[in-house]
Amino acid sequence: MSVIRALHQQLVSKERSAVEITQSYLDQIAALEPTIRSYLTVTADQALAQAAQVDARIAAGEDIGPLTGIPIALKDNLCTQGVRTTCGSKILENFVPPYESTVTGKLRDAGAIALGKTNLDEFAMGSSTENSAYQITGNPWDVTRVPGGSSGGSAAAVAAGECAVALGSDTGGSIRQPASFCGVVGLKPTYGLVSRFGLVAYASSLDQIGPLARTVEDAALLLQGIAGHDPKDSTSLDVKVPDYTQYLKTDLKGRKVGIITETFAAEGIDPAVRTATEKAIQQLKELGAEIQEISCPRFPYGLPTYYIIAPSEASSNLARYDGVKYGVRNNNDSLMSMYTKTRAEGFGAEVKRRIMIGTYALSAGYYDAYYLKAQKVRTLIKQDFEAAFGQVDVLVCPTAPTTAFKAGEKVDDPLSMYLSDLMTIPVNLAGLPGLSLPCGFDNQGLPIGLQLIGNALREDLLFEVGYAYEQATEWHNRVP
Ligand code: GLN
Repeated sequence: MSVIRALHQQLVSKERSAVEITQSYLDQIAALEPTIRSYLTVTADQALAQAAQVDARIAAGEDIGPLTGIPIALKDNLCTQGVRTTCGSKILENFVPPYESTVTGKLRDAGAIALGKTNLDEFAMGSSTENSAYQITGNPWDVTRVPGGSSGGSAAAVAAGECAVALGSDTGGSIRQPASFCGVVGLKPTYGLVSRFGLVAYASSLDQIGPLARTVEDAALLLQGIAGHDPKDSTSLDVKVPDYTQYLKTDLKGRKVGIITETFAAEGIDPAVRTATEKAIQQLKELGAEIQEISCPRFPYGLPTYYIIAPSEASSNLARYDGVKYGVRNNNDSLMSMYTKTRAEGFGAEVKRRIMIGTYALSAGYYDAYYLKAQKVRTLIKQDFEAAFGQVDVLVCPTAPTTAFKAGEKVDDPLSMYLSDLMTIPVNLAGLPGLSLPCGFDNQGLPIGLQLIGNALREDLLFEVGYAYEQATEWHNRVP
């Protein structure tokens, strides 16, 4: 059952107060953080004060919405007014935003209770949360393994019951891949559906904020709370947000589901991941879906395309950390050495690597060969998806090629780390929504994720198919 619905029921029936619920999550955080380390900041006092306000509203007989009194965790690249926002970077160690991101403001206005800020790869660059300047987060299913990344703190917090639901951000897979590694549900919404105002920018044409949750229904309810037009984000879509919960049905008669041929042909897919995905497809068929194979021939070019476009945008976005406007400054004799020392000390190795790749790809003489070429391939990938959605309602493939790997296993091999996002990246390049949900376990007891991809603004179909699958299976009921 949906965690949000269950808590809402307890609140309106006065079985438990918001303070009691919040305290129980804070207790879980206190008990598990020594081993999981998913939070960078816990805002316990603030959370309990917010909860007391919710209780006062309930006592006064006010009707409350589904998110009122629900304890949530926030990835630490979402600006929170008055609460330190580090982005997992030393350079923002002492940054306390003077303003609130649109999504966190919306949740606060809806009465949701922010428990704290979760760990991430520095500036959301990574697939294991090991690029955080602060701490290594453990996967709740096996703490010697990574939770995935870059929203690893949020995914681990959800899996470990250290929050009811959480927000992450996804530029190339950073919600879906950690969801897959931690056995939870994660949704990367259509580009523009959720405001990016107050999300610390990594690669602006790819970044989207989205929910991490225990069930599809929880993800739908959280998306409902954060989606919608925002004049403060010029890429925000001015569309009517549907009531997503009305699409949660249990049969899939007439739905057309496409299997992306190229994702099964890809090298390096774990046999356990392949088997679980095949079984999940069989299950969709039993629920009434018509299954067909669809080729997206340019899908395999997603990874190299992304590793030109994302670092290019990042190199530009991260130019603002110069020691003058934000965070850490290394005061030195000349202006130039203040800039260079601040950046040399403030950024970690992966961030520097990407700044170098990005500035190189954008430099005069190389721009056409790299950046412009990558943008053209991006269009071709988008066209493959457009052709596919002319034939089917949703596409299906594994979320990640493997289950959670050991901490330290890939830190010295960036290329093998980059391969984690083989199947998620094309979705960001095309601006489409993607949902990852649990579809099995490997023989070491590690969760496997199934990815559903929809056409732009067809989150409704992802919820419909995801919910029907979830109702027919038991995977989401297992806890670490
Ligand atoms: N792992 C990918 C990267 O390192 C995706 C990150 C993300 O989605 N934020 O860029």
